Amino acid sequence: MRPELKEYPLDQLFARTFQLARKAGRATPKEQALLLKSVPYVSGLLEPMLALGAPAITFLGMLADYYTDLIHAKEQGKKVVMTTFCFDPTIFYAFDNLVPVTLEVGTVITSILWKRGAYDFMDFCTEVGFSETGCSSQRGTMGAYLAGAGVNIDMVAVNMGGICDTNSNAYSFAAQYLGKPFYGLDYPAELTPDAVRDYHHQDYRALIRFLETHGGGRFDIDRLRSLLEEKQIQDELTNEIEELQRLVPNPVPGIYHLLMYAGRYTCSGSPTFTRMLREMLEVVRVNALSGAAGLGRPEKCRAFLFYIDNFSFNVGMFDWLARNQVSHMGSMLSRFFPDNAPYRREVPGTCYTIDTRGLDSMIDTLADINARMPMTRTVRGPYDAPNMWLEDSLSLAKIFNAECCIYNGTPGCRNTWSNVKLIMRDLEKHGYPTHLVYADAFDGRVESWETTAMRLDEFFKIRGLL
Ligand code: SF4
Repeated sequence: MRPELKEYPLDQLFARTFQLARKAGRATPKEQALLLKSVPYVSGLLEPMLALGAPAITFLGMLADYYTDLIHAKEQGKKVVMTTFCFDPTIFYAFDNLVPVTLEVGTVITSILWKRGAYDFMDFCTEVGFSETGCSSQRGTMGAYLAGAGVNIDMVAVNMGGICDTNSNAYSFAAQYLGKPFYGLDYPAELTPDAVRDYHHQDYRALIRFLETHGGGRFDIDRLRSLLEEKQIQDELTNEIEELQRLVPNPVPGIYHLLMYAGRYTCSGSPTFTRMLREMLEVVRVNALSGAAGLGRPEKCRAFLFYIDNFSFNVGMFDWLARNQVSHMGSMLSRFFPDNAPYRREVPGTCYTIDTRGLDSMIDTLADINARMPMTRTVRGPYDAPNMWLEDSLSLAKIFNAECCIYNGTPGCRNTWSNVKLIMRDLEKHGYPTHLVYADAFDGRVESWETTAMRLDEFFKIRGLL
């Protein structure tokens, strides 16, 4: 690891960056224009974010608070839990002394913020023995924590056992390397049988015992109830945004997806996240009433990303789609399957219900939510089995009136690369022109963003979509 990268701990850099960005959001237009001139390196990202107005400012403030809490965790006597984006963080906030750090969110921030991306941190993982063929989304910040260029981790709790070997192995490697306790929830290959549901519920209780034992904090039932009640409000707001997204043209700006899922992965159940969703809904309602597309220009095409998004420097992919008048209809990262989602009719019997009547029902609720997090739900079994990747993708593409599908992922994702050609063939058979992006969503060294953009351009033109 280059010594200069250890000079400033990664979480400190994030906290400081978001604190400053929040301040920029409160500046006058004249002050903002002057600021953008003096920070050319980040203006490519800061300018479009500030242009989004209130929801983006709230988002920047929310992440400023998230990283500020993290860097002050130890002096407040709290413990830091390393976790994954496929894991709903609500359970950590139900304790009075746990602070989660979600590696993949850090990797995305690093990739979109810095030209050097997360490459040094990815490479450090392999220098100390982790497989270089693993998913880049964890390695992108895991390297910083392994190298001591981040807060000290107290324990690791994740949930990709049985679903994604590279994700599970990354966290188990980190726990062993750092000498910290580890708990991994396991998932059978199916989602809906009673035996599977019971297994999820019992496994989740064992997770809570692990957090109690190694965290030493108090699991607070009232706090859990209020988090779940807030989550219910967040689901309702998200559902309304999703419902409006079905309109043609789609009134939801594509970049909202990134803000919404990053918020859910880090700050689920927090009032600030609720505020951001309300602010988004206000904008979306105004667009919908006036028949305006969220793109800021007329909509020519609607694309569903049936895996994840591309996190190239300055959110290149979101920007490319908007400039080419293609509505982003969300990706696997955007969907969480609450029982009142607009797409529930297409996936009957597979959504979760929030039940706050008692401690047991709340724990079962959390287990059910976790079992439906992105990837945890959709790529746990054979791609064409019931309720899995093919069925989910077809249902979502249909309900959001998508006109084409795009696969974008990471080469380390054996779960999806092993059958991506098969699912593409099936999506094409169902009438969706489908494009395979060969890039790594988090590692620009695999394929440059310029090459990815050129291929996207070819796809949309050759298939007559633009
Ligand atoms: S992108 Fe693929 S490899 Fe990475 S965590 Fe998700 S399922 Fe695993």
